Amino acid sequence: MELRNILHERFGYTSFRKGQQEIIEDVIAGRNVVAMLPTGAGKSICYLLPGYILDGAVIIVSPLLSLMEDQVHQLQMIGEKRSVAINSFLSFEEKKRVVEDLAKYKYIFVSPEMLQNSYFMNKLRRLHVSLFVIDEAHCISQWGHEFRTDYLKLSSVMKELGSPTCLALTATATKQVLKDIVGFLKLKDVHYHLHSIDRPNISINVEKVATIDDKKRKLIEWVQRLQGPGMIYFSSRWWAEHISSLLVEAGIKGVAYYHGGMDAEQRMLIQQQFLSDQLQIICCTNAFGMGVNKPNVRYVIHFHYPTTIEAYLQEIGRAGRDGLPSIGILLHSPSDQELPEALIQQEFPSKDELEHIVATIKNNVPLHQLIKEDELLAFSTINETGWRFIKYQLEIGGWLIEGRLVKDILPEEFLRHIKTLIEKRLVYKHQKLQEMSQWMHTSTTCRRQGYLSIFDEKLTKPVPQCCDLCKVDYQLYENKGETSEIKVKDWQQELKLILIK
Ligand SMILES: [Zn+2]
Repeated sequence: MELRNILHERFGYTSFRKGQQEIIEDVIAGRNVVAMLPTGAGKSICYLLPGYILDGAVIIVSPLLSLMEDQVHQLQMIGEKRSVAINSFLSFEEKKRVVEDLAKYKYIFVSPEMLQNSYFMNKLRRLHVSLFVIDEAHCISQWGHEFRTDYLKLSSVMKELGSPTCLALTATATKQVLKDIVGFLKLKDVHYHLHSIDRPNISINVEKVATIDDKKRKLIEWVQRLQGPGMIYFSSRWWAEHISSLLVEAGIKGVAYYHGGMDAEQRMLIQQQFLSDQLQIICCTNAFGMGVNKPNVRYVIHFHYPTTIEAYLQEIGRAGRDGLPSIGILLHSPSDQELPEALIQQEFPSKDELEHIVATIKNNVPLHQLIKEDELLAFSTINETGWRFIKYQLEIGGWLIEGRLVKDILPEEFLRHIKTLIEKRLVYKHQKLQEMSQWMHTSTTCRRQGYLSIFDEKLTKPVPQCCDLCKVDYQLYENKGETSEIKVKDWQQELKLILIK
């Protein structure tokens, strides 16, 4: 069947969006593809459609539980029942049942951690996997080094599955990150489909304020002035909650907060309410966003700035997915510098934590016996993230094989190795932060041109309402007193809007 027919029949679209068809054709022809499409360009069609042509299963590695749940839910809504998300939302019994019946499914969404589960992998190996998709592939580089170390093992997973065609998808990747993706996945004969990361319908603005109190006042002003729905990003849970109550006190309606410290049910509820326009404003940390496919977000305000320009672009990219004019505003005060510094430090285990865990392993873990990770963590001050990082280093250094310590650890040698590694990563993280900070402080070049040049891109044509340095008419984004955006009544139409993002 012709691709366009499948697109229409299965997904209800009459034509492809820019970039989709070429990617799909390459994937069907069995070529490994690395694709960069801006957020909102319809990445999921690039692997869902080939699923209707290719014989075997499509495995989609996804970094977030909510993202997987969403995708499966949307597929079921369009009548595709052969999809499943295997993650911690399933009970033990459910997981067992699904894994036993794995052959029934066409689209299998999994976390990278799940692919390290030997029981699951045993079942998966028996399937014919025709396409291996890595969604949000930049996680391989951006996160992989520190806390998603299982991402770095995907190349061996693919090999175990008979090296199926691989499609790595991302919305924001610099040349270095693209190199990381291909390198870590050990991909051969890669076909690249790289599209501009820019979203011309989003106006980019940085506003400087003198103090933190000024920033709070300014934020309230913007929230009262702008047409919602909107998202406000914070670097910490405390700030997200604090400002959320401040907005409520200021009489602003439909405000809630969202962060990783809330339980899963609460988070799901807030997300659903925001998606269905029952909430107008979300005060959130970066735990919210990836996989949130809300087409009509009109503004994204940064109360705190993220540590990389990539993260910034991803976050503002949640605005205007319906293609309508939207605005990003970053509020900056001189005292902001300390937070990102602290965030970067927090990503790595401290010197004391490192020394303590190495001593604990040395004294408590007998050679050739399976490490009891829970007990080990209970003994130590190190958190789960820090432990994963160390575990991965033990594995690639040949100390640890399949959960067993196979040679004695020489603490000095191992600690020296880890410390050098952390120092190297810290230098890199600080360079990225520096890049973000320079971009914020620029007062001469266009902000859009500024971030495009980081991605080796150029602004090819002028963008209306481009950025604060090119001048913006803020009246265009004001709340005109209309209660809300146009409500899409037809659920199928609404679903279409969501699915294509
Ligand atoms: Zn500009």
